[in-house]
Order: sequence, then C-alpha cells, then structure tokens
Amino acid sequence: MIDPFGRSISYLRVSVTDRCDFRCTYCMAEDMTFLPKKDLLTLEELDRLCSAFIAKGVRKLRITGGEPLVRRNVMQFFRAMSRHLASGALEELTLTTNGSQLEKHAAELAECGVKRINVSVDTLDPAKFKEITRWGDLATVLKGIKAAQAAGLKIKINAVALKDFNEHEIPDLMRWAHGEGMDLTLIETMPLGEIDIDRTDQYLPLSKVRADLARQFTLTESSHRTGGPARYLSVAETGGRLGLITPLTHNFCESCNRVRLTCTGTLYMCLGQDDAADLRAPLRSSESDDLLHAAIDEAVGRKPKGHDFVIERRGETAAVPRHMSMTGG
Ligand code: SAM
Ligand code: SF4
Repeated sequence: MIDPFGRSISYLRVSVTDRCDFRCTYCMAEDMTFLPKKDLLTLEELDRLCSAFIAKGVRKLRITGGEPLVRRNVMQFFRAMSRHLASGALEELTLTTNGSQLEKHAAELAECGVKRINVSVDTLDPAKFKEITRWGDLATVLKGIKAAQAAGLKIKINAVALKDFNEHEIPDLMRWAHGEGMDLTLIETMPLGEIDIDRTDQYLPLSKVRADLARQFTLTESSHRTGGPARYLSVAETGGRLGLITPLTHNFCESCNRVRLTCTGTLYMCLGQDDAADLRAPLRSSESDDLLHAAIDEAVGRKPKGHDFVIERRGETAAVPRHMSMTGG
C-alpha cells in the first residue's frame, strides 16, 4: 500500500475499545460517554479486518485503545493474530497499555508472540499518579510491569510531558526506566478531543525538556528506530535510550507509515485529520474480502500529507473532535 506521497503503509494501529479504567486528564473528560457495545466490531470482525490489512502489506500491528486489556476476551484476539506471526506474514504484534491489567495477561501475551509492549507511566509519585489518571493505582501498574518483565517482554515506558506536573520529574523517570532496562519515550500533548481542562496549561514543548536534560546528561542522537514516530537519543550516564515524540514542535509526518482503525471499523489515515473511511459496511456487506480490499485501497489513496496541530491560543478547541482513546495512541 503506497499513499499519494510515496509513503509505504506497513503499520496498523487498532483501537479495540474506546473504554478505559483510567481517566487521564489530558486524554478524557471524567464523565466520558462511550460507544454503545452494539456499535463495536466483534473480535471476529476485527480479525477479518486486520487480516485484510496484513494481506495487503501491513507488517506491524499495534493493539491499543482506550485500554485494550479491558476489552472482554481480548486475549482471544491476540491468539488469533499470533497466527500471522507464525506464518511470517506479520513481523510484530504489540500493545500499548496503561498496565492496570498487565499482571493478569503478561504471560499469555508473551505466549502469543508479543515481544515488546509500551506501558504509559507519567509519574512515579503515587499521589500524582492518582491525580493525573484520576482512577489509576501506581502500585498495580508497577506490579504489571514486573510481571511483563518476568514473562520476557521488553518494555518501553511512555510518558506525556506535562508542564508543572512531571516536568521536573523527568530525570528521575528516565533513571528509573533505564535502570530497569526499559526505554523511555516522552510525548507532547496533542489537541485531541474535548477534555475538562485547558490544554495550554499542560503543553510542555520537548525542545525545552531536551535542553533541560542536556544540562545534566550527555545526549547524543541515535539512529535507532522502532517504526513509530519517535526519534531517539542515547543517554551516556544511564546507558539507556530516550525517545521524543514531537508532533507539535517538529513535524513528524514525512515518514508516516501508519493508519489507524477504530473499534467500530472506521479507518483514520491521519491522527490529526478528520477524514476517515468506513470499513464496517464493506466488511459486513460481503463474505468475500474484495470490497474490503477496494475500500482500503481507496482510503490509503487519500492519506493526507500531514496534520496541523497547534496549541497556542488559550482556550482553543481541539484540533480534531475525537479523543486519542478512539483512534488509539
Ligand atoms: N490506554 C493505553 C495507554 O494509556 O497506554 C493505550 C491508549 S492511550 C490513548 C495511548 C497513549 O496516548 C498513552 O501513552 C497516552 O499517554 C497518550 N495520550 C493520550 N491522550 C493524549 C494526548 N491528548 N496527547 C498526547 N498523548 C496522549
Ligand atoms: Fe485511558 Fe490511556 Fe487515555 Fe489514560 S491515556 S485515559 S489510560 S486511554
């Protein structure tokens, strides 16, 4: 699948549910309205859709949400996808999770061929963790991380950089992650969906974080890539890697190889644009996959050049109305 700008699409992110057991302040409002369960694709339908993408050249599949591990019977879906790893059609099956259910599922994820996962941890202070996630418990997440390490999964920690919240904790977060043999990736807040607070109060450019870190650490550009949007720095003092995802300070669209599928079968060709393609209708209208393949080709054929996120004016509304939990992080 090649888009109009010559980018080859080899990476599919699938949000298997819009629901979550946390309510991170930058991601969701506290009283979120979720989709009625009847609107969700079944796990069998998600299987058919993902398999169609894999047949068309997707090599990397990331399962996300909402919180993917709260979707009922989600491990059945991982089992089903693992057949594409076994056949060699898929290179990597992976997951982004808040870690709340990881203790329970880590061993089975490893059995399904998952090798690396991303776990989101924005702070190591239990009270602040509760404040930012509203409903989360840090100790449970840390137990989940231990279980995942014991199962042999490689972990990357994702943290959203938030002004006046974890800004001064980033060195500690990095020392902890690297000390545990985990990469750390920092993400800038993106203006996705209405939340209860003003995003301008949270926005912390990673250019500033990097300059602050450079006063304490020796940072050198690394050629390491994971197929995602992060650019990596090697940190001499910790021997670890620091990823930076900078959709706002630096445009990361040139090398975009991704499309995103929601749990209702809507395909978003760009996280920061409204244009989407409905794949549920072609999926349901025929037993054969021909219509589906045609709809995927048509959608990839109109993948936009890039997003236009800006968070500069106080009180500005979201760049796109949907939340990250819908299109998946
Ligand atoms: N629930 C899982 C988790 O938290 O890892 C997976 C879904 S979550 C939407 C994926 C990632 O997106 C998380 O690392 C989260 O911190 C990040 N995220 C959510 N809303 C965001 C926003 N508005 N800007 C930047 N990152 C965001
Ligand atoms: Fe849930 Fe992840 Fe959004 Fe937090 S960032 S509310 S854990 S989906």
